[in-house]
Amino acid sequence: MSDIKVGDLVMIVRGMPCCGGTKNIPLGFAFTAYALSKMTAPESCDSCGAIVDGLAVVYADSGMGAYLHCLKKIDPPAEGDSLPTRADLEVTA
Ligand SMILES: [Zn+2]
Repeated sequence: MSDIKVGDLVMIVRGMPCCGGTKNIPLGFAFTAYALSKMTAPESCDSCGAIVDGLAVVYADSGMGAYLHCLKKIDPPAEGDSLPTRADLEVTA
């Protein structure tokens, strides 16, 4: 499940590890993993206030990061080199 590595296309598919909350978590947002790291300092969950720490984080080249827990790897298409555009993956609420 956590076989995500740099260069993989990933999508945010679930909420926080503590409570599953999705406040401030852009579900459905897809990006290419640019760097993998760990949290450098504890943060409090925006949904339930729990302190989370030591989680693996995957960063996009924009600098945006998402918890590894929240991500799913998207398998690239078997043929061709075209990846889904962001519009294709946008979740309409
Ligand atoms: Zn929480």
